[in-house]
Amino acid sequence: MSYPVLLIHMNVIMDNMKKIVARAGKQGISVWGVTKGISAPVELAHRLSETGITAIADSRILNIIKMKTSGVKIPFVLIRIPMRSELEDVVQYADYSLASDIETINEMSHICERRRQEHKILIAVDVGDLREGFMLNEAEIVAKKMRKISPFLKIAGVAVNFACASGVLPSVESLNSFIKFGETIESELSCKLEVFSGGASTVSLTELENNFFPQRVNNLRIGQGYLLGKTTIPDFNIPWLCQNTMEIKAELVEIRKKPTLPIGKIALSSSREIPVFEDRGERLRGILAIGTQDVTVSKLLPLDENVKIITASSDHMIVDLEDCLVSYRTGDILTFRPNYHAMLSASTSVYVTKIFVD
Ligand SMILES: *Cc1c(COP(=O)(O)O)cnc(C)c1O
Repeated sequence: MSYPVLLIHMNVIMDNMKKIVARAGKQGISVWGVTKGISAPVELAHRLSETGITAIADSRILNIIKMKTSGVKIPFVLIRIPMRSELEDVVQYADYSLASDIETINEMSHICERRRQEHKILIAVDVGDLREGFMLNEAEIVAKKMRKISPFLKIAGVAVNFACASGVLPSVESLNSFIKFGETIESELSCKLEVFSGGASTVSLTELENNFFPQRVNNLRIGQGYLLGKTTIPDFNIPWLCQNTMEIKAELVEIRKKPTLPIGKIALSSSREIPVFEDRGERLRGILAIGTQDVTVSKLLPLDENVKIITASSDHMIVDLEDCLVSYRTGDILTFRPNYHAMLSASTSVYVTKIFVD
């Protein structure tokens, strides 16, 4: 095997998604499987499309093109509001996209008209997290503008997002104002919207069965929940999902007793701070051939709980091995559990081998 490696337990991930789809389904909620957190590998996309989700969603049109051209047969949703420069591809490859800019929507409308091709948008609504989306008081203005777009560009619904820019969690009140936004669009355009997409993993999965979601919320966009079996905001393992979905493995290239206090005058670090060191005498120190070019090292959790990550540079991760019960040797492999950011960085690094097991 070539290291570092990201080992992905496909069956566990698919089981997680099937459980989410079943629980959401009981509440009348469809699930879109979000693939951006792991850079949308086609092996995963093929399997994911058979778990009962109704679409695959990704933030990158490049990922959508990759999955679609590899023969994954399911509708695709672009969930990052599109760049003006990529609209042609968005209309060609994505079935749905999120939109929060009138001029972009108009441009998209021209493209649909010229290509005689249908595309569906979800109007993004910002109820307080302050990332993408129209503010609540813009509903009527938006609806009026939407009267002028091409019949090839359909308004499929509305979408709200939480906990991505400011950590704001969904509440019954904010979801109700989101629905009111959608219903204003419906009454202004005299139509029924197909999708009220009520958010991502956050508390959505833990609250699914508590009658938290108002009736009209009929869709969730789930990434972290099935990929890691957890949510970050708040940081919580979902008890009915499995967290052992993937591991990162790296090889030890040096193990030596070294002082804990560096020897010599210490310069300002790149973050303009003077690093502080505690003198704990000589301790066993290991170097792993993995660095910040491979993964966000600080976001890894060693499976051997006696391994402590000390620091890392581009290509080296330094660990304290003094308290380990195993006597490691060079050539041994250490295993880590990634969090969302570590998964994201390892999956985008060309230096990390990705292996799908079971
Ligand atoms: C990333 C993202 C999601 C999925 O978020 P998870 O926390 O991984 O479930 C959903 N919607 C939008 C708009 C996103 O950017």
